Amino acid sequence: MEDLSKLKTELDRTKTELGILYEISNAMRTTLKLDEILYIILTGVTAHIGLGFNRAMLFLVNEKEKIIEGKMGIGPESGEEANAAWTRIEEEKMDLEDLIGAFKCSTSVLESSFNLQVKALKVSMYDKDENPLSLAVLEGMPLHLTGQILHQYRNSPVIQMLKNNELILIPLKAKDKVNGIIVADNFITNDPITKDHIRMLTMLANQAGLAIENSRLYELTVERAHSDYLTSLWNHGYFQYLLHNEVEKAKANRSPLSLLVIDIDDFKIYNDTLGHQEGDKILKNLAALLRNQSRKMDLVCRYGGEEFTIILPHTDKKEAFMIAERLRLDIQKYPFLNEDVFPNKQMTVSLGLATFPENGQLPAELISSSDKSLYQAKNKGKNKTCCG
Ligand code: GH3
Ligand code: MG
Ligand code: MG
Repeated sequence: MEDLSKLKTELDRTKTELGILYEISNAMRTTLKLDEILYIILTGVTAHIGLGFNRAMLFLVNEKEKIIEGKMGIGPESGEEANAAWTRIEEEKMDLEDLIGAFKCSTSVLESSFNLQVKALKVSMYDKDENPLSLAVLEGMPLHLTGQILHQYRNSPVIQMLKNNELILIPLKAKDKVNGIIVADNFITNDPITKDHIRMLTMLANQAGLAIENSRLYELTVERAHSDYLTSLWNHGYFQYLLHNEVEKAKANRSPLSLLVIDIDDFKIYNDTLGHQEGDKILKNLAALLRNQSRKMDLVCRYGGEEFTIILPHTDKKEAFMIAERLRLDIQKYPFLNEDVFPNKQMTVSLGLATFPENGQLPAELISSSDKSLYQAKNKGKNKTCCG
């Protein structure tokens, strides 16, 4: 009889576990956006109706820079906050789907100080003696840290941040390669982490690793489709989309927006003398310069041929003019290859500037206004910025 009841408890538990995994993997299939995938994974790890850890964070492997970066952290920062959140979830009978829906309409998770702390964490991939994250990535095995082993890692940034005496690290894998790590703990309830927890987390991690890989591939494909092949700047089609979007935002926020059009002076001469391949190198160099000298919020695009555009959100005409002039002088000073081919022995550009709302309310009006100004700059002798 006892055996039978034990068997039933075990069956019930397996059923619940499978149910949770099923819900999480279904949820992961509803989106390809990385932020949403990460949130779904961490909700699954932390929600009471999920695996029920007090807090969880997700790190991704950045192969290019050989580092492991914090991407998202979910978990109440204090006991009080935890109680309030869990009570709400229970009272409102929120299931995983509701929780995920709540994320899409709120940014509070992303603004929490815990999330910001996690996102600031970056460690080397190879630092396995000092850093448990590196060890989990290199060995591809779950790491359950307690007591003496945890003490060994006391100086690592993640341990210092979590200030807890028990935690679990689970590597995420896609095609046998570790692409991330989930770290979870019970810093409020201090519930011990059991073998069952580790087994469930491992099953979840296998799904999560694949979902993250798919989402990264998707985001890479989208980015490539919007980029110009030669310069890697945003291409013409995406420029039109971005301008439309930014004009809408400017209207809604009643904020200014400026558009710059940039055209190389006498570029035909350069191409005719040295050939298109040399001309292409100049376009690449100029694109890199424009991107490096722009602010983070500015959107640098290749409009076509040797013409570039920069969308300057929240920027009025006066400020945009100063930015344009600074760019013009930077370009004039930059030592491009074989500059002596140009009529003035240096490569220069002409710029046209239009500002929302005074020069146009519609994207097409702003483009046409900045184009007219560019024409003026050319007519007035080139190497100039003109505005409407
Ligand atoms: P202006 O000062 O009036 O702008 O004179 P320009 O010679 O630069 O004339 P325009 O702006 O009409 O430039 C067109 C030239 O730019 C034609 C071609 O030689 C060059 N060009 C356009 N697109 C490309 C490109 O993708 N690669 C290369 N190498 N050259 C290009
Ligand atoms: Mg041109
Ligand atoms: Mg030109």
